[in-house]
Amino acid sequence: MQLYTSNPIKIYNSLTGKKEDFTPINEGHIGMYVCGPTVYSNVHLGNVRTFMSFDMVFRYLKHLGYKVRYVRNITDAGHLENDADAGEDKITKKARLEQIEPMEVVQRYTVDFHNILNTLNFLPPSIEPTATGHIIEQIALIQKIIDNGFGYEVNGSVYFDVHKFNETNEYGKLSKRKLEDLIHNTRALDGQSDKKNPQDFALWKKAEPQHIMRWPSPWSDGFPGWHLECTAMSTKYLGEQFDIHGGGMDLKFPHHECEIAQNEAAIGKSPVNYWMHANMLELNGARMSKSTGNTVNPDELLSGENTFFTKAFAPGVIRFFNAQASYRSVLDLTDEGLLASEKGFYKLMDGIALLNSITATDNSTFDVSSWKQKCYDAMNDDFNSPILIAHLFEAVKYINQIKDQKATISATDLALLTTTMHAFVYDVLGLENVAETNSGSDKLAGAVEVLIKLRQEARANKDFAMSDKIRDELADAGIVLKDGKDGTTFSVN
Ligand code: AMP
Ligand code: ZN
Repeated sequence: MQLYTSNPIKIYNSLTGKKEDFTPINEGHIGMYVCGPTVYSNVHLGNVRTFMSFDMVFRYLKHLGYKVRYVRNITDAGHLENDADAGEDKITKKARLEQIEPMEVVQRYTVDFHNILNTLNFLPPSIEPTATGHIIEQIALIQKIIDNGFGYEVNGSVYFDVHKFNETNEYGKLSKRKLEDLIHNTRALDGQSDKKNPQDFALWKKAEPQHIMRWPSPWSDGFPGWHLECTAMSTKYLGEQFDIHGGGMDLKFPHHECEIAQNEAAIGKSPVNYWMHANMLELNGARMSKSTGNTVNPDELLSGENTFFTKAFAPGVIRFFNAQASYRSVLDLTDEGLLASEKGFYKLMDGIALLNSITATDNSTFDVSSWKQKCYDAMNDDFNSPILIAHLFEAVKYINQIKDQKATISATDLALLTTTMHAFVYDVLGLENVAETNSGSDKLAGAVEVLIKLRQEARANKDFAMSDKIRDELADAGIVLKDGKDGTTFSVN
């Protein structure tokens, strides 16, 4: 019997605004689609947070024994600079600026994306399709939408008729917007647009002569609109209706709203049973965003080479930091937060390491079975990883008590505790206690930590001459120690 039969899960469905009992369309199987990156620049930690949240969801569903087909696309064409179908294609623009082929841009940043995700111990999705690899499917989808009366062609471009669609369907149901309000709030684009109404969105754009990324179609040589690829690829690999669709909160409108409209217009069905939206990562209180430049890239955090943080952080610490907040909460990336997560992460890893040296006795002073169920209950409740982590620390406390001979554990419970800790920490949260990155700054940080410890020991022994000597000689070497209420930190001058 698979674990999922005794672990019913609840998922917060953004479409209904409710936590709902999760029932897959086909028992034991789950189809999950997550919007992937637009590969025109390096991913920042905000992007990574969203993908990491869904990596955890994927890991937990697999852990429960579901056969999950997880599709995460690569957007390598069609994503314009502006959501209102204006501006240049992001990839074409980068190619023009750097005087390279668009596909060189795509290759460079796809490789970077995969490298980062490998470093951060992500599981690869089952399928990672690209927009440019599915032009034929997208053209066929546009044709269906036109045939069903919801798309129209003007000057070689094809648009989705939002007003017509809204007569029979409900445009805005995911993002809780009403078409009347949208009409009020959108400005017509100086009469430059061919659209019947500013709320309409592009399904196919005729390429200007200088636009290099172009494909033949019944309407013009051009390229597909951004929203179309996800509808075409999710339908192709997961069917007309599937279980879970995820992405960052900012994709709800217009991207996901348009996906729903395209599906309903082409197939007459709402595509997704459970819409999941991950909340935003902030950097020192403001949303991390490429457009404002308020970003830190994962490699900058792993190497310590950035202006925001006092040191480098290991991949496991970054994952642990992310899992300490619910995927539905805003998370602020700060130095203090990361330092606290680092402490927590190593405390958890030390606890797991201790399990090897524990000797079992006749009975247990802690109810391991009910603790295990509490871990499952936390994850079954809309993947509540912070609550899971609280339970994991309860176990660490118990392990430390056993080590200090203040508690005991039976052999059966020791085996259960060990397998459960390993399952949740390694398999579900994807945490690995790999050595910190090999950057020089990490090694320096490691060496200074050793000296800080020696200085603390000297102080504890009232050997103030030694503790001052360590501080002063480090200062001479350009490393300044600062004593604070949470311990000693250092900076490099
Ligand atoms: P993009 O490459 O711009 O299409 O974004 C890739 C993914 O990152 C999308 O799911 C976005 O919603 C998500 N994303 C962008 N900024 C943030 C952020 N600050 N925090 C969390 N997710 C984000
Ligand atoms: Zn998408």
